[in-house]
Amino acid sequence: MTAPGGYDPLASVGPGAPDPSRGPRIRLARPQVGEAELDAVRDVLESGFLTNGPWTRRFEERFAGRHEVAHAVAFANGTVALEALLRAHDVGPGDEVVVPSFTFISTATSVLHVGATPVFADIDPHTFDLDPAAVARVLTPRTRAVVPVHYGGQPAALAELCALAEDAGIVLLEDAAEAHGARCEGRPVGSWGHAGMFSFTPTKNITTGEGGMVTTDDGALAQRLRLLRNHGMDAPYHHASLGWNWRLSDIHAAIGCCQLDRLDDILATKRANAAVMAELLAPLPGVVAPVVAPGRDHTFMLYTVRVPPNRRDAALAGLAARGIEARVYFPPAHRQPVFAHLPVPDLPTTDEVAASVLSLPFHAGLGHDDLAEVATALEAALAGGATR
Ligand SMILES: *Cc1c(COP(=O)(O)O)cnc(C)c1O
Repeated sequence: MTAPGGYDPLASVGPGAPDPSRGPRIRLARPQVGEAELDAVRDVLESGFLTNGPWTRRFEERFAGRHEVAHAVAFANGTVALEALLRAHDVGPGDEVVVPSFTFISTATSVLHVGATPVFADIDPHTFDLDPAAVARVLTPRTRAVVPVHYGGQPAALAELCALAEDAGIVLLEDAAEAHGARCEGRPVGSWGHAGMFSFTPTKNITTGEGGMVTTDDGALAQRLRLLRNHGMDAPYHHASLGWNWRLSDIHAAIGCCQLDRLDDILATKRANAAVMAELLAPLPGVVAPVVAPGRDHTFMLYTVRVPPNRRDAALAGLAARGIEARVYFPPAHRQPVFAHLPVPDLPTTDEVAASVLSLPFHAGLGHDDLAEVATALEAALAGGATR
């Protein structure tokens, strides 16, 4: 699924992405944006404060409120937000960080960026989230942190993972990139761990074009993150420590405020559509719709189904031939060349799941007719064509 040339399979445009004029009729993702975002961008441009202005602060405060934490710190994207979190915890060379392999690459590459070693742990075959027992098995005296991913928008087993992290004396940082507004046992994701990271790329449920956010109740951590984000500057042109320019612009933040206003509607639409889709898929032999664990929400940033592995690639091709964009989220990170220098971990569930999944179009702009068309096309694609 990873095309050569650095093509990011999560990006909605880029080399290898469909030409919008000739591309699929039903796209995998479509940002939900409109007049409100246009008006907000105009307001920012007219205000003259395009960065470090009031919109970033407003977006942060509103995002923190939505996720029931004391602080939120906006970043240029989710990947640098995760790197900043690891740096803020002084994770570096000689340290290990436990991550899933069944995730977007930057969960694991952010660990390389700080000079530490990612240690991959296996997942639960139903939720595709980290399996706490598998995490326990890979802990060593060098483990500094565990980074569970809320795959596709379903919270990981946070109660178990938080207890495990506390017992081991390590920090738990949530990769909540795909799970804005999700709850686990009634509590928002991003408020369980020491901190949480969110992303606003265009495939996520809400988007700012590019953007990221960290949530935390730890005021000292929030302050460290602000220094890392802005050249270590603690007073005008006084640089207390090494930092970067990882700021989100006020233009993006203004869009983010409008997107937060839309979040509840988007989640309600997706949850209703998920119920419809589960019924449509139920009669299809060998197709497993997303499983939602008790006590957890699913925000359906991805709608990932399992199909018989020997039919998966034919199903993808068949869907494409019918004008429906589907993809494999994700090819396992531990098998990517960027990690070839690490010992190959034994992740039987990750390998098995990754060979059988495909993610169907599920953006909030789809109606019941579209869902029915996707289900019918999947049935036909699984039935016809050659096996690999
Ligand atoms: C999208 C995503 C990221 C990266 O976020 P960016 O904003 O694209 O840098 C990290 N982890 C997961 C699980 C993601 O889905």
